[in-house]
Amino acid sequence: MKKTVIITGASKGIGAATAILFAQKGYNVVINYNESYEPANLLARSLCENGFSAVALKANVTNRLEVELMIKEAVYKFGSVDVFVNNAGIALQGLITDTDEYDVAKIFDINLKGVFNCCRAITPVMVQQKYGKIINISSMWGEVGASCEVAYSASKAGVIGLTKALAKELAPSNITVNAISPGLIDTTMNSLLSEDELKSFIEEIPLGRIGKADEIAASVFFLASDEANYITGQVLGVNGGCVI
Ligand code: NAP
Repeated sequence: MKKTVIITGASKGIGAATAILFAQKGYNVVINYNESYEPANLLARSLCENGFSAVALKANVTNRLEVELMIKEAVYKFGSVDVFVNNAGIALQGLITDTDEYDVAKIFDINLKGVFNCCRAITPVMVQQKYGKIINISSMWGEVGASCEVAYSASKAGVIGLTKALAKELAPSNITVNAISPGLIDTTMNSLLSEDELKSFIEEIPLGRIGKADEIAASVFFLASDEANYITGQVLGVNGGCVI
């Protein structure tokens, strides 16, 4: 039977690259979006037109009921959810003293509570299947911290803590939970960086270049594969050597 993956925030960037790869590898793909109705539906349509199996479903990851409905719809349509990729996330840059309470609440809501909501909602489905793979997209800043990205770094560090704890909780049900910790990846999330900022950042990357969304997608696919069946609670760094 075909396996099914749900990828949150799959309308663009890393999520879209992951959706395309899983579709090409034969999965039913649920492309989750919140605001990007058109790109998400265009992606689903173009995958279907190419003979793959995909659907775009809206759910704001901060809203427990919307997440539960999306999962119900996916199970109804495809019969199971074998892989869940928590990819949705936002960035926030600025000095801690310039960061207001509203922005901090928003970033924790999406980057951390969103992952929590999705993990909580998918757990009963995967426990019943006695099978599942949860892959959470953290960040290298969650491991080592970034200056002027205190709230972002803290939210991504939270994702790592959540991943490790949930891996222990769900291992007896044959469910693995892992995180990927990307370095600087070429997506719209980094479109606000000036050319100079980008250049000086790249000079710090041992492999000497920015990463591609496809390279994160490939790591997600590996963790979802049978080759990774004995890996759980781990944080896979995909960062060109930035964090060693
Ligand atoms: P991106 O291109 O900005 O895409 C972010 C995605 O998150 C969008 O598809 C967006 O969907 C979705 N999203 C935001 N809020 C949401 C919500 N409340 N509910 C559902 N979806 C929501 O970013 P990206 O670079 O691909 O980043 C993907 C993940 O990788 C993020 O978690 C990010 O923190 C992490 N990451 C990125 C980098 C990097 O350098 N790019 C590095 C390390 C980690 P809508 O437009 O539909 O709202």
